[in-house]
Amino acid sequence: MAPTVKDAIKRGKMTVETALEHGRATVETAIEHGRATVETAIEHGIATVETAIQHGRVTVEAALEHGRVTVETAIEHGRATMRAAILHGREDVRIEQVPVPEAAAGELIVRVGAALTCGTDLKVFRRGYHARMIVPPALFGHELAGTVEEVGEGVSGFAVGDRVVALNSAPCGDCYYCQRGQENLCDDLLFNNGAYAEFIRIPARIVAKNTLRVPENVPLEHAALTEPLACAVHGFHDSQPQKGDIVAVIGGGPLGLMILHVAALAGYETIALVKHDGQVEAARQLGATHVVQTTTARKAIREARALTPGERGVDIAIEAVGTPDTWQEALELVRKGGTVNFFGGCAANTHVLLDTNRIHYSDITMRATFHHTPSICREALALIASGRFQASAFITGHAKLYELNRVFEKLMKRSTEIKTAIVP
Ligand SMILES: [Zn+2]
Ligand SMILES: [Zn+2]
Repeated sequence: MAPTVKDAIKRGKMTVETALEHGRATVETAIEHGRATVETAIEHGIATVETAIQHGRVTVEAALEHGRVTVETAIEHGRATMRAAILHGREDVRIEQVPVPEAAAGELIVRVGAALTCGTDLKVFRRGYHARMIVPPALFGHELAGTVEEVGEGVSGFAVGDRVVALNSAPCGDCYYCQRGQENLCDDLLFNNGAYAEFIRIPARIVAKNTLRVPENVPLEHAALTEPLACAVHGFHDSQPQKGDIVAVIGGGPLGLMILHVAALAGYETIALVKHDGQVEAARQLGATHVVQTTTARKAIREARALTPGERGVDIAIEAVGTPDTWQEALELVRKGGTVNFFGGCAANTHVLLDTNRIHYSDITMRATFHHTPSICREALALIASGRFQASAFITGHAKLYELNRVFEKLMKRSTEIKTAIVP
């Protein structure tokens, strides 16, 4: 070969021709190789390809999109495929057949027992992406608990059959923020998605830092609440409540109701500000001392303040909606020297006008809380396991994986559902 090329180079014109010839041969070989792979797979009647074909060309294409290597590896190992939700873009989630993931060193494969719908997933469904957490096409869903199906090399502490809750992220442990105990702000927070599936791969870092064993008395779908509850517990702690404080929570979504419940369980007098009839009922059930049903912000602020001594306002107002109006509302609810926690994240590039005089002359503390840390996740699971936390009140529906689209469409219409457990 080498002399031929050298000769060709010497002969000038021939170089290009030789190169083209060489190039064509390469492409042909590749095509031949590609065709051979698919044909071989079909010939061998491997379940993966057959199942994919049965499900139509779209599925095959999607599988190919996920990388030939993955498909080939799956075929080689004779592994079955699984059903999984793939987010393709705005309001476009498809249930597809993809290879069951394999555990690399340090990883776990978990058979999903229950995956819970979440406000964040709903936002992602509506917007088609999440800058920090998910970029399509991608596996989707992040609140889950299940049983260990496969244990990667070098994993100690977990065995096949263990019931676990694997959190959706893990911090690096080395950066400036991790060193200061602010692991929720880690510069290299590793996120994991793919809970709406039969199996999910848990990356090594999450296995090592944020995968927890589920106590026997805790149903898997309750354990799956660990992630959102950790956010709620974090938001409540961050508001630095002091004994005797009156805590207002704006918003009757899953997180608002969780923060309310956490505050009530901790023995605080609470005021829930919610919109819908179903949320009024839920807030009462979860221990709200008072419930204000919001028709207009003005009226809600007046009513809530009227529930405090001398109408001075609440000690702590936690905003758990994520809109400019409710951020402003939170500021109007607190007393002089009170604390506002802007817990609800607004859409990107949102700006809010705030009354600077009120902030300055009333000495208002403003905080915001994002995400969770490994130690708070453990605290959340312990709270669920304690039996004091009304886990079942947060799971208002059950659905199969193939019904996922319908579930999200329903959630978009602001139904009374809090969370739906998706059971593969
Ligand atoms: Zn969530
Ligand atoms: Zn870090």
